[in-house]
Amino acid sequence: MEIKVFRKKIKNLYLSICRDSANVKISAPIAMPIETIQDFVNKKAGWIEKKRKSLQRKISRKPNEYIDGENHYFLGQKYILKLEKVISNPKVVLTDSEIIVSTVSGANIKDIQAALDWFYRVELLGILDDLVPVWEKKICVSVSEYTIRKMKTRWGSCSTQTGKLRFNLELAKHPLECIEYVVVHELAHLLEASHNARFKRLMTEFLPDWKQREKALKSVITA
Ligand SMILES: [Zn+2]
Repeated sequence: MEIKVFRKKIKNLYLSICRDSANVKISAPIAMPIETIQDFVNKKAGWIEKKRKSLQRKISRKPNEYIDGENHYFLGQKYILKLEKVISNPKVVLTDSEIIVSTVSGANIKDIQAALDWFYRVELLGILDDLVPVWEKKICVSVSEYTIRKMKTRWGSCSTQTGKLRFNLELAKHPLECIEYVVVHELAHLLEASHNARFKRLMTEFLPDWKQREKALKSVITA
C-alpha cells in the first residue's frame, strides 16, 4: 500500500482516504519526524485496511462509463474493455484479457452498453439452456419458461404457480458456480416456496456447497 505524505504548516497529523481511489493520504506538520508518522500508520494499519477494503468494494460497484481500458467481467473473469469501430453489425469478441466491443462510428455510451448487454444475454441464455434441463431432471421438477431480465435487487425469481423463472442479466458477470447456484435455488422453489429449513435442507442435498456459492454472490446484491 502506498501512502502519500504532505508536509503542511499544521499542528497535528491527519489521515484521509480518497473516496474515488481508496488511496491513503497523510498531512503532517513540517518538522514531524518520519518515524512518528510511520508509528502512527502502523498503529492504524488495521483500521486503514478495513476502510480501504470497504471503499474499494463501493468503487467497484460504481456504474460503468464504457470507456477504453475499463474493467468488465464475464463469468467471474476480468477483461479490459477495448472499443473499436466497424462499418456495420456491432459485435463483442473476447480474447484472453480483453473484451472488444465493435460499434459503428457515431455510437454513444448507450450503444456500447447495448452491444455488451446483448452479448451477456446471448451467453447467459446459452448457459441456462445447458443448466436448467440438467437440474430439472436432478430435482424432478419442470419449468414452463425462463427469461432474462435486468433486475436491481435479485438474482432470480420463481413463480411457483406458473413454473416461470426469471434470471438477472448481471449473472453473466459472475462465475459459473454462482449461476448454477441461482438456477438450483430457483428450481428448488418449485418444491418449497419459502426460504425455510426445508428449503435449506433441499439446497444442501442438491448442492452441498451452496452456501459458499451464495456468499460469493452476496458481496454484490442478494438473491
Ligand atoms: Zn429464493
